[in-house]
Amino acid sequence: MNMLDRLFSKEIQRRTGAHAINVIIEGDLKTRKRSRSVGSKALESTTRTEVVPRKTSLLHRLNVRLPWLKFAAIFVIGTIICLDLFGLTISKVDYLSQNLIAPMQHHVKATERTLEGKKLVALTFDDGPFPETTPKILDILTKKDIPATFFMLGNLARTYPDIVQRIAKEHHQVASHTMYHQNLIRLTPEAAQADLDESKTVIKNITGSDPAFVRPPYGNYNDFIAAAAARPLILWSVDTEDWSSKDPEAIVATAMREVYDGAVILMHDIYPTSVDALPTLIDTLRDAGYEFATVSELAQAKNIALTPGQAYYDFCP
Ligand code: ZN
Repeated sequence: MNMLDRLFSKEIQRRTGAHAINVIIEGDLKTRKRSRSVGSKALESTTRTEVVPRKTSLLHRLNVRLPWLKFAAIFVIGTIICLDLFGLTISKVDYLSQNLIAPMQHHVKATERTLEGKKLVALTFDDGPFPETTPKILDILTKKDIPATFFMLGNLARTYPDIVQRIAKEHHQVASHTMYHQNLIRLTPEAAQADLDESKTVIKNITGSDPAFVRPPYGNYNDFIAAAAARPLILWSVDTEDWSSKDPEAIVATAMREVYDGAVILMHDIYPTSVDALPTLIDTLRDAGYEFATVSELAQAKNIALTPGQAYYDFCP
């Protein structure tokens, strides 16, 4: 680098900062080679093109403006390494469980949480599935966005498996009302056990799952039946008497007279009059502040554990 180059470089350095001088020096080497062949004019033109503005990458600007930042980063990284060596750091799993998984779990349980503290009832339908009426009940439940629980007979489930599958697919709860609607306490223990087992098998073969509950016909059971059922027995606390009145207005009036928070409402999905009553009954219950749950949701919302072999009539907290 000759004297002229040095002076030129220093001037450039003064004007543009330390970074530019390296570029100039590189440019100077190239320039000298070229200047031998093409003269000093080339030096000027080449040098001018080599002088580039100061690089302004993010890291460079941070280093200039916040020189202490790299020391802080080194301190933080060093601290994390030290903590990790002593097993004191929060593991990734803990972090995820605290910050990501836990909120997701809350999200999954959102429906259950929103049911807590609400006035709730469980609509239950017995004695189906029946092709003339059960699909209409399902249509109404879908339109009103209402979950229900169906206590079905095994022999009808076997005859109309498509309806059973629809009930399960539409997120209603599938339960057993025995195989043939016999009064279980009048059967021999062997016959009662065989009936319960057969109904369970039939439903499981259709839905892929064991029925959630057993509702003994006529509400009749004893200790043997309760044990043989091997699932919670779900009775009812509000009988709409749809099976006797067969009158939509009377069905709604009876239900509204007897209903309370945590009640299990008994209907039958085999009578056209029950189908006719259902939309009005749902609307009237809603107007009275009630929301709807399956039996399992109702029990959970009221913090009542469902135990196999135990009978439940309602779910009051
Ligand atoms: Zn029945």
